[in-house]
Amino acid sequence: MNIRLLTISVLLLIFTFRLSAQNSPATRGAVFMIDDYYFETFYNHYDYIQSTGLKMTYFVCYYPRDVYIPYKYILANIFDADNHELGFHGSYHIKSSFFLTENTIPSYMNFEIFPGLMLMTSDGYDISDFSYPYGAATPNLINFFYKYFYFQKLGSTRLTLYSFNEPKQIMSPIPTDENYNISDEVIYNDIDEAYEKNKIIAFYGHQLHDAKVTFTRFRSMFDTLKAKQFHFYRLDDLQNPQLQKSFLKTEFRPTKMNPLDSI
Ligand SMILES: [Zn+2]
Repeated sequence: MNIRLLTISVLLLIFTFRLSAQNSPATRGAVFMIDDYYFETFYNHYDYIQSTGLKMTYFVCYYPRDVYIPYKYILANIFDADNHELGFHGSYHIKSSFFLTENTIPSYMNFEIFPGLMLMTSDGYDISDFSYPYGAATPNLINFFYKYFYFQKLGSTRLTLYSFNEPKQIMSPIPTDENYNISDEVIYNDIDEAYEKNKIIAFYGHQLHDAKVTFTRFRSMFDTLKAKQFHFYRLDDLQNPQLQKSFLKTEFRPTKMNPLDSI
């Protein structure tokens, strides 16, 4: 390659890099995910959560039962209104790997997935991400779910870091509940690693409850992340626009019963 061509190529590369750097959001970030239905504990710390600028992804189960009186009120008037993300965590919170030892994927979908997903969809929630109850899945189910969900959250204790526009669709966040026995030292080392590598770190828990020390731990994590200028994201902020296009083409938004008739 002659020197003039080489110079032009290098200049073009720098120009393209600058353009993409300008267009991409802040890269150092944190995603917080919560499972189940303990909305009152979220509500109890609402002022603090508001003041941190935190965005959460809340994976909801038992939606059809409406077991808590303030359940739908909190979801619609606070959680959704403040632009947190709602994901899906099963209709009845069953362990898929156990259910599938004696049942087929279509019967799992009809029992565990569609009833709750249809109710949430008909209540106006645009659900794109799923968290497996007990973090349990089978390889066949994971493959099948790519057509229904963008991100699939599994259980893990190993640090995985994320960045924008990755083709990654399996999430393995760090569990923060006290009973998962991940020490503060591990959590803060992970935060330091994400900081140094300029990456996105993901956490998940269940309750924000002082009696379980979890909120105290959450709060000191939020404060540390904020002091280190991490940006807070919803999980669906991380969806790759290219993959999202193909996901949306085959997307399934159930609105009627027996949706498996069309598979
Ligand atoms: Zn759960």
